[in-house]
Amino acid sequence: MSRIQLDGPSAGTIAAAFACAACGEEAETVRFLPRGVPGNHCSGDAVQFHFGSETMMLGPGDVRAVRAALTASDAAALHAAHPRWAASYCPQCRACYCRRHWTIEQEPDPAGDGYSMHYDTHGTCPSGHRRLMAKDGPGWPQGDRDAGGLIVEGK
Ligand SMILES: [Zn+2]
Ligand SMILES: [Zn+2]
Repeated sequence: MSRIQLDGPSAGTIAAAFACAACGEEAETVRFLPRGVPGNHCSGDAVQFHFGSETMMLGPGDVRAVRAALTASDAAALHAAHPRWAASYCPQCRACYCRRHWTIEQEPDPAGDGYSMHYDTHGTCPSGHRRLMAKDGPGWPQGDRDAGGLIVEGK
């Protein structure tokens, strides 16, 4: 289900709500936020993702990919554009799950000094597939632009 805002201060916003395959509730809503709309504090077009908790600016190629994926409500395409933009999506199930149905865990403090604010977030879906959902430290495995399947862990 996706909704495109055609006028008003949020004109150009695309909001795609993905349903949880386990309970039917909303898994998450991912938004494309054009530059200047409320909620976008970046200096360009942005995507709001990870259960609404993160917003990041997009390059021109990513703008096209994210807009197309959200317009089509296509979580797989969004995940392929970058896994972090489809945090609720399990590529092995080809389905989205809400936060109640993901078992979400954060890495213990990687520096071990009690001060590090960087935590990677992993999730395990109801079928036991574990994936990296969010990364707060240095780059994703295989670089920042890896293809979706590469960060699937275990099974
Ligand atoms: Zn659910
Ligand atoms: Zn799964």
